[in-house]
Amino acid sequence: MAQSFDVVVIGAGPGGYAAAIKAAQLGFKTACIEKRVNAGGKGALGGTCLNVGCVPSKALLDSSHKYIEAKEEFAVHGINAENLDFDVTKMVGRKDNIVKNLTAGIAGLFKANKVTWLQGHGRVHANKRIEFTPNEGEAEDIQAEHIILATGSEPIEIPVAMLQDDIIVDSTGALDFQAVPKRLGVIGAGVIGLELGSVWSRLGSEVIVLEALDTFMPMVDVQVGKELKKNLKKQGMDIRMGARVTGTKVESGEVLVEYSDTKGEQSVVVDKLIVAVGRRPYTESLLAPDSGINLDERGFIHVNAQCQADAPGVYAIGDIVRGPMLAHKATEEGVLVAEVISGHNPELNYDAIPAVVYTTPEVAWVGMSEEEAKSAGVNYKTGTFPYAALGRAMAANDTTGFFKFICDAETDRVLGVHIVGLQASEIIAQAVIAIEFGASTEDLQLMTFAHPTLSEGFHEAALAVDGKAIHIAKKISRKRK
Ligand code: FAD
Ligand code: NAD
Repeated sequence: MAQSFDVVVIGAGPGGYAAAIKAAQLGFKTACIEKRVNAGGKGALGGTCLNVGCVPSKALLDSSHKYIEAKEEFAVHGINAENLDFDVTKMVGRKDNIVKNLTAGIAGLFKANKVTWLQGHGRVHANKRIEFTPNEGEAEDIQAEHIILATGSEPIEIPVAMLQDDIIVDSTGALDFQAVPKRLGVIGAGVIGLELGSVWSRLGSEVIVLEALDTFMPMVDVQVGKELKKNLKKQGMDIRMGARVTGTKVESGEVLVEYSDTKGEQSVVVDKLIVAVGRRPYTESLLAPDSGINLDERGFIHVNAQCQADAPGVYAIGDIVRGPMLAHKATEEGVLVAEVISGHNPELNYDAIPAVVYTTPEVAWVGMSEEEAKSAGVNYKTGTFPYAALGRAMAANDTTGFFKFICDAETDRVLGVHIVGLQASEIIAQAVIAIEFGASTEDLQLMTFAHPTLSEGFHEAALAVDGKAIHIAKKISRKRK
């Protein structure tokens, strides 16, 4: 007889594993099907995020940041760090250990919450029947009351730069270089290109980024994007905009990359090439023809606001559905769906999902950019405040960047916050809370922020929206009595 569960989740990334844990916590008999095996041939939970995405990339970003700080900043603090050296194998090994520990942690959480982990491939048929093909053994049928699809995304490949050995690689390959490439090419100045480009640039690679568009990071507030690009260039990253790659040739361990830009046909030779031109939803062999589940025109599983797919009792979350491809968005959708299944009526505020680019300086934002406010016809006001005016930033010897608020000029409501600078990734949480609670600029202006902290910049930028910032010189006109 077929095994049966109340809830079966397919995919154990941050969307799927969170959905499975939440469903189990809500009392459902839950299974999670995951086909991923790690380099040691063992089943691995955690999806792209924990295995080859968010966590390993941040591990290398943190290691390389410590190195560059020691090399370029320590002397300013009076610390002598001469004869500095690093060991790439150790660095990459540390990253692998973090992955191992975290993915094992998810297995522990499954056990503690009594989630059944089924190692293998899941495929959905009509009437909530799942064809489960174990990584080892015979296929079997599983019957579910509710199905949650969470199969994530995969890197987009382009015919002009197909992956080749360990020379032309995607993000996964770029997390595993065993030596620092002397010359590193990156196709795509998106989040992955800039984060992984930063890792290897800090460790000594000459990094050339080829970006097809003329606009740098179009999803980021223009003023913020300019600041980021200026700083990455200062760090030695050669970012070439409007550069459309037309071909690649691997010869004698090098890659010839041909591209065209406004000046005509160009080429560059590099030792490694990272292709980072975006990701697409991964639904390979997931949907049987009778599943009744539809894709939209871009290949995402079609869902409503509560992540219900077109077949009754089937839900889809994370990178396989519309919205930003972000781990925390996937997790919140997973939790939301488990709540929906248990009869609640939760909502996810897609206007309050933060995004972060973990470069130096970090970029973090939530809500509308100035350009979005403009094109939506909103009557808005802005306030900015520089890190350079913060005592804590001076103490840290990092005064790059600024805070920027976009607020509704009529209602005073905070519409968007954009931060480029030290610890932007942490400070942005304050903006998420403000937007989620519908805060006005005045609400934030009237709060007290600890001194000396970087968060004072957040406060001062809120004050600056109405010209009330304290720690910035501005011309004032005073009426005589
Ligand atoms: P995934 O994490 O992709 O998990 C899906 C899982 O489903 C996979 O393990 C896959 O093996 C499994 N699967 C697929 N099909 C089947 C099937 N038929 N049967 C069984 N199992 C199946 N996001 C952030 O928010 N912050 C970051 O800092 C960040 N950094 C990133 C860095 C890199 C290099 C990359 C590549 C991505 C990064 N992301 C980041 C994006 C983030 O990883 C994704 O948004 C997130 O992992 C999506 O979660 P998910 O649960 O939808 O899918
Ligand atoms: P992306 O969409 O961020 O950037 C891809 C870039 O490649 C774009 O600027 C695009 O114009 C460019 N491009 C596309 N085709 C090109 C071509 N043929 N030649 C040159 N340039 C080309 O995608 P990504 O960097 O691959 O990241 C994928 C997803 O992963 C992102 O959407 C993001 O949500 C997620 N991610 C998030 C984080 C984070 O949250 N910090 C980190 C890494 C990845």
